[in-house]
Amino acid sequence: MITTDILIIGAGPTGLFTVFEAGLLKLKCHLIDALPQQGGQCTELYPKKPIYDIPAYPEILAGDLTDKLMEQCKQFEPGFTLGERAETIEKQEDGTFIVTTNKGTKHQAPVVAIAGGLGSFEPRKPLIHNIADFEDKGVEYMIKEPEMYRGKNVVIAGGGDSALDWSIFLSDVAKSVTLIHRRNEFRGHLDSVEKVQELKNKGKINLITPAEVIGIVGDDKVKAIVVKQAQHIEKEFEVKCDHFIPLFGLSPKLGPIANWGLEIEKNAIKVDNSLDYQTNIPGIFAIGDVNTYPGKLKLILCGFHEATLMCQSAYKIVNPGKRYVLKYTTVAGVDGFDGSRK
Ligand code: FAD
Repeated sequence: MITTDILIIGAGPTGLFTVFEAGLLKLKCHLIDALPQQGGQCTELYPKKPIYDIPAYPEILAGDLTDKLMEQCKQFEPGFTLGERAETIEKQEDGTFIVTTNKGTKHQAPVVAIAGGLGSFEPRKPLIHNIADFEDKGVEYMIKEPEMYRGKNVVIAGGGDSALDWSIFLSDVAKSVTLIHRRNEFRGHLDSVEKVQELKNKGKINLITPAEVIGIVGDDKVKAIVVKQAQHIEKEFEVKCDHFIPLFGLSPKLGPIANWGLEIEKNAIKVDNSLDYQTNIPGIFAIGDVNTYPGKLKLILCGFHEATLMCQSAYKIVNPGKRYVLKYTTVAGVDGFDGSRK
């Protein structure tokens, strides 16, 4: 059981800034994210795009903003459960909550802050009749630990940046990399497409296009995939492999949180914006893109503001009866914060 003061669901910009604001009040945070990395939409959807409306940054790349948020919150030593989706929540008699992920990891905290953005990013799965039988037995929809592919035969399917970038990266790690795409043209960046062609010419990537994977062969593990080549409708053949990684993009879904008894309006969680972004369940807050209230704007800086106010109420829940007096970081520094009057 992982215990903490504030359990944050979602390690996007809102969740990460919450760690900093909570840290100033000496509150510990642990974050759960369905993605294998921090940054939410900024890292998953547009890491190389410049953002222009972060205060004091005339321009910053979304990926760099995530790095800066990580650097800022690092001093408060947040814990992370990555690559797991928060699935269920149970209220305990002592008022704390237990949140369990789809992998069975349990977390306990008196305060839960849902910073789930558009929802947890779920992989788009290809329509292969027996693919579910091989999930976590050689079929992976996202790459969490590239080292697990060292010396293995890997097949990647997809035509976007993830499929191209991971094929390039794994060509130096895996024993063999085969990239399969249903068109001859790729959607990814031109640089990446050119690099894949170059690696193909050097024999480091086996490129099969236009083609699609229509079946998986194996018993308790993937042994091969069945490929149908588009120009030769009748032509089907097997490619031996240890791993099959379909990278067809991710789509966000509010998912299991929608069944937690929270008031939901238009796929977002209704909160009280007159005070602290608490939901209809005391002790559970919703901040950032995931919430809704009159006048809501889905912007990063709004998430930062909401996180800051939410932490004030979280302090009172974690430290009942203790007074909190606002101090400027310029006066107290970050270490000097104890949230109480000296
Ligand atoms: P998110 O960034 O969505 O992060 C939420 C995280 O929660 C995700 O990582 C998700 O995996 C996780 N999660 C959700 N549910 C679960 C669950 N059940 N279990 C585990 N994890 C879960 N905003 C601006 O202010 N300025 C801009 O210029 C700007 N440009 C944008 C450009 C694009 C292309 C896009 C798509 C968005 C842009 N935005 C911009 C919007 C901005 O990215 C969002 O407002 C911001 O990311 C919201 O942050 P968040 O932390 O609330 O949610």
